[in-house]
Order: sequence, then structure tokens, then C-alpha cells
Amino acid sequence: MFDKILIANRGEIALRVERACKELGVATVAVHSTADADAMHVRLADESVCIGAPPAKDSYLNIPAIVAACEITGADAVHPGYGFLAENARFAEILEEHAITFIGPSAEHVRLMGDKIQAKETARSLGIPVVPGSGPVGDFEEARALANDIGYPVLVKAAAGGGGRGMKLALFENELEPALATARNEARAAFGDGTVYLEKYLAHPRHIEVQVLADGQGNAIHLGERDCSLQRRHQKLWEEAPSPALNASERVRIGETVAEAMRALSYRGVGTVEFLYEGGEFYFIEMNTRLQVEHTITEMITGLDLVIEQIRIAAGAPLSLRQEDVRFDGHAIECRINAENPHTFRPSPGTITHFHPPGGLGVRVDSGAYAGYTIPPYYDSLIGKLIVHARTRNECLMRLKRALGEFVVDGIETTIPLFTSLISEPDIVDGNYDIHWLENHLAKLGARG
Ligand code: ADP
Repeated sequence: MFDKILIANRGEIALRVERACKELGVATVAVHSTADADAMHVRLADESVCIGAPPAKDSYLNIPAIVAACEITGADAVHPGYGFLAENARFAEILEEHAITFIGPSAEHVRLMGDKIQAKETARSLGIPVVPGSGPVGDFEEARALANDIGYPVLVKAAAGGGGRGMKLALFENELEPALATARNEARAAFGDGTVYLEKYLAHPRHIEVQVLADGQGNAIHLGERDCSLQRRHQKLWEEAPSPALNASERVRIGETVAEAMRALSYRGVGTVEFLYEGGEFYFIEMNTRLQVEHTITEMITGLDLVIEQIRIAAGAPLSLRQEDVRFDGHAIECRINAENPHTFRPSPGTITHFHPPGGLGVRVDSGAYAGYTIPPYYDSLIGKLIVHARTRNECLMRLKRALGEFVVDGIETTIPLFTSLISEPDIVDGNYDIHWLENHLAKLGARG
């Protein structure tokens, strides 16, 4: 096991990793920007190092500063969390060059799955069903011919994509040229890579993703699926496990397909294979080679600590359980509590004056927020996650309603009222929603798209 882990992240996920380290008896090092000196992840770590100015490029993305922080503190491994450097293959390599373990997959797998075109080709070759689409597209004429083959509507997507950026829809041929230009420009600005490809646009899919755990020693298992169909602007807001849309045999079928593919790849670490699900079929869209925000709901229904598993695997241990040891128990839902106006979704940074998280059986709050904490304006707006677990989906919904009612966050605006109205919607109660449901119902919920 490692002696000391440096957590190259902030906010709730840095805290999440610290908790796992403490339970493993491993010392922790927090890093922070000057804007985060008072943050909870800094207070709860054994040691902390300031790595730069507030903009992420000067601090949380500042690789030399993070490597220096490892050397100063003697950390022998780095947990990247999600976002920031979690899917940066070069970062993983640089750490290895300094004899520091990157808690994640091999740099090669991070790079492979970071290119969505290569990821799709790899998935297809491993027997995973993919969304029909193209390779990299060149000029408009080429795109037009490819789109005609695929059939409209088509989605133009960035090869380096993430966070829904560089993604544009063309319903008809006359929309293809502007969609291509916009997607390319957005991709270039966001990722420094303007490579785009085309994909068949699915009209009413659900977003269903499979959690995998693998040790790079030939063992790989799946931990069931998460349904993340409730999204706004391709950003997930509410996730649940299991999916209300799948039956047990579909779950086993897709889970085993994915686990088998991860075995063939000799994948190491945690990972998520994302699908769109429509008409009883799964279509691969991408793989995330890291811990995800919504990993918590899988933890609740399996009783496993994914971060502890991840750290053990990175330290060279084989998987601690076999597929037949995995037990799915009950239902879990996560709501992302963002510091945003619940009607306009405009960020609402500022000082939290009162903070009272809900509690009781089956309620978990992962958050670095506290009364008196000032949310800096430089980073994403996620300030916490409310996760509830119960024996059935109905009990889970009642528990969520109860927990939302207890949650007090004063001084800033949050997405809590949105979830409070969402939970009374008949479609939500029935589990009857696709990836467009939330955007189509925002006005009814008193919010704007
Ligand atoms: P990113 O990495 O930018 O988040 P993804 O490929 O994971 O992009 O897609 C994000 C979301 O965009 C999906 O969850 C889904 O809602 C939507 N989406 C992506 N591809 C398609 C598609 N082919 N058809 C319809 N919706 C799609």
C-alpha cells in the first residue's frame, strides 16, 4: 500500500478520496489554489500545499506544481479525482517518470479512450455495439456524403469531446455546414483539437452507463448500470441505479459484454462505458477512464467503496471480489446540488450563511460546503451531492423527497428547488423519461432552458 497519496483535485471529490485514504490508513496531501485556502478538503487533509493562482490552468492543471508538491511532501501516488487532470495521459506518464503512481488506468488506455473516434473503433472491435457514425471528417463535401449514408438527423461531435462541448445537431442537410463549423470551432477552443466526426442522432434514447472494475491482471467485473438520462445541455443532474428501464437479463447481458471487453483490453482501474439505449438496443458513445461524479449510487447498491478498490488496484492488488460476489441491493438516486439559480441556471457563487444537510437512514451527502464557506467563482458549480438509498425505487423517491425538504443552504441559490418540483412529476415517479425529458419540461418546472 502507498504511504501518502496526493489528491490533485478540490471540492467534494477531494474529500471523497481523503475519506477512502483515511479508512486505508494512508496519509493525505491536499493541493489548493490561493482561492481555496479555506476549503474543507484542505482542512481535512494531513498536509496541504498551495499550487498556484485561482485559474485552474495556474493551479489544478499546473502539472509542474503538482509534481513539485509530491516531491516536497514525499507522496508516492496521486489520485486525480474527476475533471482537471483525470483523463490527461501525459500527466499519467509524467508521474510515472517521477516514480509516482497515477491512481488510474495506463496512460495508453487513457489516451485511447480520450479520442472518441478511436474509442468507438476499439469498442466495436471488442464486440460492444456502437452508434452508427463516421471516422474523422474532412471538408463539407465529405461530411455531406457521410451524413447521407448515416441518414439525418446527424450529430457532429468532437473527437476530443467532453462536457457536451463541440457537439452540434444537424436535422437536415442545410444545417450540416453550420453545425460542422460551430462544432469544429468549439472543439478547437475547448480542447485545442478541431477533429470532428458524425454520429446518427438517436431521437428518444436513455443514457445508461455500465460501471466496471478491473485489475489489469486479467480480471474485470461490472457493477451494474446507472441511468443518467435526466440532463440539461448534456450535463447530468439526477442519476439513479438500477435503471428503471432495464430488466435483469438486459442488465446481465450488457454488463457481461462490457466486462468481457475490459478483460480483453487488460484494462486496469475503475471505468465507465456509456451507452444510449433505445428500442431495447444499446449503442456505445464513449468510455470514461476515471471515477465519475455519480459513482456514489453504485456504491450504495453494491456496498463497495469504489475509491478504496481503485487505490488497492493501483497499488498492485488483484480484484478483491468476483462477479458472483457482487450483490445488488435496493435503489439509489443522486441529485447534483449546484450553486446555480434553479430557474436560469446562472452560477450563484457567494457565501453560504446557513448549511444544514439532511440525515437519517439511507441518506448520504458528499459535500465540502459549510456555513461561512465562500464559493469561489473560478470552478464548476457543483457544491455537493445528495444520495439516497432504499429497498425499492418508491421508497427511494419518498426518502429523497424527505431529504430534500430537510436540506438548508442559505446565502446562495441552489438546484434543490428544481429537484423538489421534479420529484412530484408523474413521469419521474414512473421512471418514464429519456435524455430530452428534462429540457422539454423545464418551463413546466418553472425553469428556463
Ligand atoms: P460528452 O463527452 O461531451 O459528455 P457524450 O458523447 O458522452 O459527450 O454525450 C453526452 C450526451 O449527449 C449523452 O448523454 C446524450 O444525452 C447526448 N448524445 C450524445 N450522442 C448522441 C447521439 N448519437 N444521439 C442523441 N444524443 C446523443
